[in-house]
Amino acid sequence: MGIRQFNKLLTRAAGTIALSSVLALGLPITPAAVVHAQDCDHAIFAWEELTEPTCTSTGKKAKVCQECEAVLETESIGKADHDGKWEITKASTCAAFGVKSLICQNCLEVIETQSIPKKNHSYKWETTKTATCSEEGERVYKCKNCGVIQTREKKEKKSHSAVWVTKKPATCTAEGSKQRICKNCDAVVDTAVIQKKNHSCKWETTKTSTCASYGVKSHKCKNCGYVDETKTIDKKKHKYGSWGVKAVTVNGQTVKVTQTRTCTNCKSPLTVAGTSASFGKRHDAGSYYYKFTPSSGRIVVLCTDCHKSVTGTVNGNYLKFTRPKKDNSKPTSNGWKAVRK
Ligand SMILES: [Zn+2]
Ligand SMILES: [Zn+2]
Ligand SMILES: [Zn+2]
Ligand SMILES: [Zn+2]
Ligand SMILES: [Zn+2]
Ligand SMILES: [Zn+2]
Ligand SMILES: [Zn+2]
Repeated sequence: MGIRQFNKLLTRAAGTIALSSVLALGLPITPAAVVHAQDCDHAIFAWEELTEPTCTSTGKKAKVCQECEAVLETESIGKADHDGKWEITKASTCAAFGVKSLICQNCLEVIETQSIPKKNHSYKWETTKTATCSEEGERVYKCKNCGVIQTREKKEKKSHSAVWVTKKPATCTAEGSKQRICKNCDAVVDTAVIQKKNHSCKWETTKTSTCASYGVKSHKCKNCGYVDETKTIDKKKHKYGSWGVKAVTVNGQTVKVTQTRTCTNCKSPLTVAGTSASFGKRHDAGSYYYKFTPSSGRIVVLCTDCHKSVTGTVNGNYLKFTRPKKDNSKPTSNGWKAVRK
């Protein structure tokens, strides 16, 4: 005990010391004179705590003489206050009130309870069914804590998202077909015909021409064989080889020459003939000679008796002769041939 507290107690001691109250506590009190020396007047005393009070039980203190240690008086000390602390004993929800309690940390006594107000609902949109092209969807405005639904809302059907798909390709002989199919639900939204394709025609020789006959070419589809047009192919031109002399005949005063050549393609012969104008006199065939150029068919026929000659040239399909003219050539040089009798 400090000096200051001790002095305080001294001051209090100056007040009344009621023996009756000590007696009331039933303490065995003996007159001081019996216990103590005559000279102890219990002038210096102090209150000492015997039992500490708690929140459930009272304590006890005693007034003790500091000199002779006699217990002069005892007193009860009132219960201590509870050490209360608020605790949530039941949390509130959006559906129910909660409870909070003031609980003593020492004795666990519930000193007081109070109601906790309900929480607000905490709403959120939630899709309960996704819309498809065939069915409506739905979403709800729902409390995420208690599940209560405030609003329901339909969501419109989606529109189809369709693309054209060829089911059967068109050809040049048949129509095709196509469908518009929804990518999401496979529904066929539309069906249409695909127009026939145009033929894809190309000229093709169906019969080769020759020098003797016409050929045929057809404008024919390479896909289906359809022919939309035919044309005649011109005959080929004969391709002749060199001329040859077939016959030289003297007939009175004229000379007749027959020449021929052959087509290398078709083997058909081309024969030309011509008769000269009159030489003026009748000579024996033995007097005649001729000089011939195979490439052009030019022929010179000379009579050594009358010293005249005619020149024949091929003109289309006959041999055309010049009129006989003076010619003093001697048929001795190379190239001259005698006309056979
Ligand atoms: Zn005393
Ligand atoms: Zn308590
Ligand atoms: Zn709620
Ligand atoms: Zn759809
Ligand atoms: Zn076709
Ligand atoms: Zn020919
Ligand atoms: Zn002659």
